[in-house]
Amino acid sequence: MPAPTKIERVETMLWDRWLLIRIYCEDGTVGIGEGGVHGWQRPTKTMVDTMAEYLEGKNPDYIEHHYQWLYRSSHFMGSVVQGALSAIDIALWDIKGKRLGVPIYDLMGGKTRDKVRCYMHVGGETKDDLVASAQAAVKDGFTAVRFTPFAPDYYLHKSYTEWADEAVDRVGAVKEAVGGNVDICVEIHRQMAPAESIWLGRRLEQFNPFFYEDPMLPDSPARMGDVADQCNIPIATGERFTTIFEYEQLLEANAASYIRPDLCLCGGLSGSKKVSAMAEAKHVKVIPHNPLSPVSTAACVQLDACIPNFALQEYTGESEPPKSDLLVTPLELVDGYLIVPEGPGLGIELNEAALSGPENPKILDTPIGFDGSVQDR
Ligand SMILES: [Mg+2]
Repeated sequence: MPAPTKIERVETMLWDRWLLIRIYCEDGTVGIGEGGVHGWQRPTKTMVDTMAEYLEGKNPDYIEHHYQWLYRSSHFMGSVVQGALSAIDIALWDIKGKRLGVPIYDLMGGKTRDKVRCYMHVGGETKDDLVASAQAAVKDGFTAVRFTPFAPDYYLHKSYTEWADEAVDRVGAVKEAVGGNVDICVEIHRQMAPAESIWLGRRLEQFNPFFYEDPMLPDSPARMGDVADQCNIPIATGERFTTIFEYEQLLEANAASYIRPDLCLCGGLSGSKKVSAMAEAKHVKVIPHNPLSPVSTAACVQLDACIPNFALQEYTGESEPPKSDLLVTPLELVDGYLIVPEGPGLGIELNEAALSGPENPKILDTPIGFDGSVQDR
């Protein structure tokens, strides 16, 4: 065992759309983390800076103790608290792995797989653009693609029939274009009520989607359970959840075939490992949510590599700047699979030259319907 050390300081960085952190230890070890409340990155940065006052001078080895202190020390909880806590948790696991000279998955039970199957984001304003994007992903080696079936101006349609007909047409076109051996994943982005999502889901069953993601707002496990009961497509949900307690209610309602923990929001590697075990006990598989930077991807791969009930990994592509600039050595992607890295901790290092890049915060926005009403994002 290396000699005990102390946390010296916590650094927060808003770079492009991401909140990255580094925790520096007295022995020279530096841990990397990311917070996942995209859209509210500045308040989350402030929360990390506030939590840093507690962490400075503490032994970084006591990951669960620090998690419990930071989670339970205030009356109030929520996404900004959990986004900050998640970034810290990931960085502390990175420190522990680096100090011991082993990957994080080796500290969490050891490797359950050598590579991680990814689904690629595809999209396009027109049906032809969407089909071309899906075909390009398959040509690149991906065996699963994910897309929203709605046209960009769907919220201006005046009838549900018009809306749904367009969605069915797009899903059918992608299914036909990619062929029977590629899984299609349909992302609804919470844009329907339960009755509407059941109605559309039944029409999409003919295309055998791998999953039907967030077909309604995730706040009611009971109603999500109704959707799961009444349409024959596996439900994937949970990307907004911040604690194991929300997942307990979702799993108890049998409302999901796949859970979507976001490691940068749901308590980091500690929280997501617990959630994965809860899902395992219900025969539910795990598809980590991953819309952020390559740091989030690296953390996801560590989890995917050590749980038995991994299904798929969300992947948005990291071959173009700014993502391609962030890591000294990008994670290896071969034929739609991320190769599990062998290096200590997260197995990555940040590229210092890239970190001087400008902040590019996500612009908060949501659609306004044809009648002027606010629609769900
Ligand atoms: Mg989603």
